[in-house]
Amino acid sequence: MSNRPRSPNGIKRSRRIDGVLSCLQGSFAGSDPRWLPSVRRAVRCHRLRGLAAQQTASIARHVTPRMPEGHKTHFLAREHTRQFSGQPIKVSSPQGRFRGDARKVSGKVFSHSEAVGKHLFYHFDGGRLIHVHLGRYGKFRQHAVPPPAAVGQVRMRWQGADTALDLTGPTTCRVIDADTRAEVIEKLGPDPLAGGSPAKVWNRVRKSNKPIGALLLDQAVVAGVGNIFRAELLFALRWDPRTPGDQLDRPAFDRMWKALGKMMRTGLRYGKIITVSSKEAGVPLASLEGRDRFRVYGKSNCPVCGHPIETIEVASRKLYWCPSCQS
Ligand SMILES: [Zn+2]
Repeated sequence: MSNRPRSPNGIKRSRRIDGVLSCLQGSFAGSDPRWLPSVRRAVRCHRLRGLAAQQTASIARHVTPRMPEGHKTHFLAREHTRQFSGQPIKVSSPQGRFRGDARKVSGKVFSHSEAVGKHLFYHFDGGRLIHVHLGRYGKFRQHAVPPPAAVGQVRMRWQGADTALDLTGPTTCRVIDADTRAEVIEKLGPDPLAGGSPAKVWNRVRKSNKPIGALLLDQAVVAGVGNIFRAELLFALRWDPRTPGDQLDRPAFDRMWKALGKMMRTGLRYGKIITVSSKEAGVPLASLEGRDRFRVYGKSNCPVCGHPIETIEVASRKLYWCPSCQS
């Protein structure tokens, strides 16, 4: 006899939790096994507490790593500039993988950080830069000075006058020069949050027969849009994500650019993507967390027509949409 806490629907709940666990393990298999222990701990903890399966599924959604979109890189650039600008920074690599590069900039005065799409550039006096792409697992953690002993795989540690910063799990973390920065930016499309030119984006979109749902994720077309902005933008416009770029006209594209800019600026203001209005949310926008912030991404039913939200794969990523409203 199991000593697992029981409720009137205990058996059903237990099966649901097992489903969540196996789904999570499946998602992370082959990608990053470092997540598995924390996922197992989260599920075990919820079993012991006997919480409802719905809440456990909510936890599962929160631990799923997502690649930060453009609003987040701009938010980080602004914060890091505010915290460290004008200070000499002690740069190290507790994990060791960035040690050689860290020596090239350690002790130099940090000028400012800059976001372009999903890329971050940290400018130091003397012309050297640190280039960071967080990818799906990259994360910054902040500490007071002196920082505690590094925990986990800290690729890069900054120590300023009174703030320290740890970076774990980035896709890219390297010291580069101005020419390499220019090469990275050259490959990117315009970034709506960096004053990017809509005319350049339109020139790419109108000549392509690829679906707009794919073009929006292509960083060479427009920089900074990820899977959440894509789904929420296409839903806001009521567009079928499979519509080829060359079937759009300029007024439609202009509506899209305006809506995208507004969505990204809201994300930058709050440091998180929020696409519902305060009227829809019924609470202050800043208090929204998780999927309460979205209209369609990760949702079960359309907030407009009630039709079940479906997913299709566009550009190798799962896209949430309402086939009833977006046709
Ligand atoms: Zn709908």
